[in-house]
Amino acid sequence: TVVPVDLGERSYDIHIGSGLLDRAGELIQPLMRGNRALVITDDQVAPLYLERVEKSLVAAGIMPMHTVLPAGEKTKDFPHLEALLDAMLAARAERGTMVVALGGGVIGDLTGFAASILLRGVDFVQIPTTLLAQVDSSVGGKTGINTRHGKNLVGAFHQPRLVLADISALQTLPRRQMLAGYAEVVKYGIIDDAPFFAWLETNGAAVVAGDPDALAQAVAVSCRAKARIVAADEREGGVRALLNLGHTFGHALEAETGFSDEMLHGEAVAIGMVMALRLSSQIGLAPAEDCERLKRHLDAMGLSSALPASGRLWEVSRLLDHMRGDKKVKDGKVTFVMARGIGQSFLTRDVPEDALAAMLAEMAAGR
Ligand code: NAD
Ligand code: ZN
Repeated sequence: TVVPVDLGERSYDIHIGSGLLDRAGELIQPLMRGNRALVITDDQVAPLYLERVEKSLVAAGIMPMHTVLPAGEKTKDFPHLEALLDAMLAARAERGTMVVALGGGVIGDLTGFAASILLRGVDFVQIPTTLLAQVDSSVGGKTGINTRHGKNLVGAFHQPRLVLADISALQTLPRRQMLAGYAEVVKYGIIDDAPFFAWLETNGAAVVAGDPDALAQAVAVSCRAKARIVAADEREGGVRALLNLGHTFGHALEAETGFSDEMLHGEAVAIGMVMALRLSSQIGLAPAEDCERLKRHLDAMGLSSALPASGRLWEVSRLLDHMRGDKKVKDGKVTFVMARGIGQSFLTRDVPEDALAAMLAEMAAGR
């Protein structure tokens, strides 16, 4: 399956299928301005897939070099950005060198940002190897790093020239990471595709179990949705903010847990989406049944829909503070993604503070 991302002269294709890692060279070759590629990956993905990608590049007449970074969110920082740029320059990167990001969202975001500033911008290709990266972070051109002031606060819009989502690479992904990525798949159903949500209710178990047909379908529908929203609003002046469904709440949970393994991004987004639907229903916008339906589905998949009760006290005032610190705040007001039901999300800056605090208090109390 090929999903086009329509962005004028920055347009590109997303290829979705099994075995694409071995076809990377053939698919990248027509985009090459020179004959060299720099493959950037992490130390968990490298032993699994680096050799296959490099072999296919060589077979297509491309000379690859590679840099392997430590796996994990901590790699998305200034010191690793500097080390990466240094390694790229040491490898004699030129304007025509193709940069290849092979890995999850961490490698994609860091590598894309490095590509955007190396020699004032070189081409790059995304080869996402996590479900989250295949359905979300590899598409749309947002790149960047974290700073001590927060996540993704320094970065650039830099679109890839090509995205290769090889669903067979997900076979080695730990189940917890698979489920975290699945939360972003569910997100597209809630945003504006109720039939897709219903499809997931039937086929979600096959998706997270790694069934090739179900996975390919879920990734394709997700990428089409993301491509459509990004094409309508590349730099997030409007509708692109719908992709933040569940994220303002989720971000607060992640901040509260220190962006640690205690709660993965997708796990926070799952609970955040429940919060969005719950608040929407409590202020009379959406039927309560739609929130219950989302909770049932998340629970059935093995993704928690409630705040973990043990080991942590969730403080409403702190959660609210984190939301106000989000970079989507404008004039001190938070833009919320609310919904009239599953598949009917919309943006609003008018959410009653008392209803918001009450909903958070209930969730914090495990109700
Ligand atoms: P990640 O890149 O840290 O990958 C998760 C873990 O899985 C890592 O340990 C990695 O080494 C391992 N891994 C990757 N592929 C594997 C495979 N095929 N088999 C086995 N292990 C594998 O995390 P992620 O969830 O992919 O991405 C999270 C990042 O994405 C965050 O930094 C987030 O800010 C960013 N993000 C960016 C956007 C965007 O639009 N740019 C959107 C959403 C998220
Ligand atoms: Zn997300």
